[in-house]
Amino acid sequence: MKIVALTGGVGGAKLVVGLQRIVAPEDLTVIVNTGDDFTHLGLRICPDIDTLLYTLSGRASRERGWGREDESWSFMAAMRELGGEDWFQLGDRDLALHILRTVRLRDGDALTAITGDLARAFGIRSTILPMSDQAIETTLDTDVGFLSFQRYFVALRAEPRVRRIEFSGASAAKPALGVIEAIKEADAVLIAPSNPYLSIDPIISVPGLRDALLASSAARVAVSPLVGGTSVKGPTAKLMQEFECPVVNYTIASHYGDLLQGLLVHEGDNIPEGLETASCDTLMRSESDSERVADAALDLARRIMAHRS
Ligand code: GDP
Repeated sequence: MKIVALTGGVGGAKLVVGLQRIVAPEDLTVIVNTGDDFTHLGLRICPDIDTLLYTLSGRASRERGWGREDESWSFMAAMRELGGEDWFQLGDRDLALHILRTVRLRDGDALTAITGDLARAFGIRSTILPMSDQAIETTLDTDVGFLSFQRYFVALRAEPRVRRIEFSGASAAKPALGVIEAIKEADAVLIAPSNPYLSIDPIISVPGLRDALLASSAARVAVSPLVGGTSVKGPTAKLMQEFECPVVNYTIASHYGDLLQGLLVHEGDNIPEGLETASCDTLMRSESDSERVADAALDLARRIMAHRS
């Protein structure tokens, strides 16, 4: 069974860790949001790709929720001493990855090729693809003006009220090499429990991607990011309120609309109508939790495939 997963950072990576445990690496392609990418201190930083690389290779920091385990902070301390910008934390080991990527991009290599090489260097055998090789920037229209994603998310801790979200550059971008092919060949497409507005929508904004998903014969299933009626972390529930949508699974289902044939929800949470559903404990604190949720999502995909035949 060939699987494609669409994912943002931390919430999505938790599902992909589970998939990695039950799907053969050659059958798993992960398409990652790059709308959060930005250039900082001259370095090209791809937070969601990096989260996937660190998480899938067992290098992610579980307590911090971002960056590497086994990290040191001499660079940040030296930056502060010199009065440099310190609002975005970069660990010493983490820096190596950003420098390598920045140098290769400057030399003309594509983000897709660089990401593949970084994944291989970390021993990851499944395929990790950025959604696009062209820059697409998530920009937020908020009550304090237009903000780039990292200003909103990190510097302002997602506090401003959001009116609208734009994906600048999307109309001129193309899906990365391998993205459309993977969707065409997939038996199941799983939308990870990532933030629908900030992590999944940028992926779907890449021209051709939505149509490829709709044309695909794959069963399309999302895992809801709501657990116990709210989001586990980050601004998903806050954004739903700001967009005047009830914080319930129906809002997730209707947001994805015809992209979705199935939704896996947390046990005990409300179950939307109009699509196939399943429920289980979707809170992922450990790798075995991730495996349970990945299993349940694939079961739902298989059920959808069986109903068709
Ligand atoms: P980011 O890019 O690092 O902000 O992370 P994502 O967009 O991938 O994930 C953020 C979303 O993941 C939030 O809406 C959370 O509710 C959701 N999330 C995080 N952990 C879990 C979990 O254990 N289970 C479920 N169902 N959702 C989770």
